[in-house]
Parts: sequence; C-alpha cells; structure tokens
Amino acid sequence: IFITFEGIDGAGKSTHIGFVQNLLEQRGIKPVATREPGGTPLGETLRKLLLQESMHLETEALLMFASRREHIAQVIQPALDAGNWVISDRFTDASFAYQGGGRKLSINKLNQLEQWVHPNLQPDLTLLFDVPIDVARARLDATRTLDKFEQEKSEFFNATRNEYLRRAREFPQRFRLIDSTRSIEAIQTELREIIDSFFV
Ligand code: C5P
Repeated sequence: IFITFEGIDGAGKSTHIGFVQNLLEQRGIKPVATREPGGTPLGETLRKLLLQESMHLETEALLMFASRREHIAQVIQPALDAGNWVISDRFTDASFAYQGGGRKLSINKLNQLEQWVHPNLQPDLTLLFDVPIDVARARLDATRTLDKFEQEKSEFFNATRNEYLRRAREFPQRFRLIDSTRSIEAIQTELREIIDSFFV
C-alpha cells in the first residue's frame, strides 16, 4: 500500500505523518517513511539545489522528476514489491500543484513527465491537508525560517492550493480531503477512521 501526504506549506502535513506512522505500527506494520523532493542520497542532493537555487521553471520540474525517478527505483518500488507499506511526504501531485498550479508549467508537460517516470504507479491513498492560505501563512511565520518556495506570494499559494483541490476532484477514488483548519485531535480521529478502513 502506497500512501502520500500532500498540501501547501503550513497545512500541517508533517504533524500528521508521524501520527499515521504510529497508527500503522500499532497494527504491526512497519511502513517505509520517505519524502520528496529527496528520499535517496541523490534525491537529497537535488532537494538542496531545488530549495536554494533559482532556476528555469522547466529545470525545476525536470529535477523534481529526476529526484522522483531515483526515489521510485531505489525506495518506493522495491518496498511495494516486497509487500511493504510506503508513506511519502509529497509525490507527483506536488509537482502538479507547485510547478503546474503555482508556477504555471503546462499540465500537459507534467502529464508527459508523469507518463515517462511512472506510467503504472499511483498512490493507493492521497491525504490532502487543506487550509486557506492565510491560515497556512500564519502557521509558517510562527514556526520556521522560510525556504525558497515558502517565501512565495499569496497568489502562488492560492494557485497551488487550487490545483491540489482540482486534482482531488479529478481523482476522488484515491484522494481524501482533510479539512486542516480543525483541531489536531479532530483530524487525528478522521485519520484513524481512514487508516482503519484498510483493515476491515
Ligand atoms: O514538503 P516540504 O516542505 O519538505 O517541501 C520542501 C519545499 O519544496 C516546500 O516549500 C514545497 O513547497 C516545495 N516543493 C515544490 N514542488 C514540489 C515539491 C515540493 O515546490 N514538487
């Protein structure tokens, strides 16, 4: 089973990944927990470049998919083939949202990259943590110094969020939209129900 966690920066994604990991461990499952960009030594090197350097939009998209290609080959596919669960902090939906929605790279090009890099792999479940951008921004300002992407303007985040929401409507069978304005406890109750549904 392959689960991905998505949402704009400040939506609370990282808080909940550990919780889901614990839920699975209580069920006797030791998931492979990983992230993008990154997830492999080469991918983490690419992540540093992506977060620090300015570059052409298409270079950015290609490096994201290069990191993803390596991640699938080295980590995700071998784990799934061995029958393990994989939980990933971001995957291809983030490229559609950030490079497509946020930066306006054509969705057609992103579809082509997706077809190239993983024609036959999709998450079984994508948890989309959704908040209005003013809430996300306030949370980010309170918690950390911002990387290149996090310093973007509100229109960028609005477009990113809207592309995530569009994809959630396009692929309702794998997406679960989590209203992340609620309390952590309320969200965790919902996450528990979603994860439990895999075990009935
Ligand atoms: O999820 P995390 O905060 O670790 O992601 C690092 C940064 O990379 C974030 O600011 C995110 O907005 C950005 N990102 C991106 N395009 C992707 C994946 C992540 O712009 N495809």
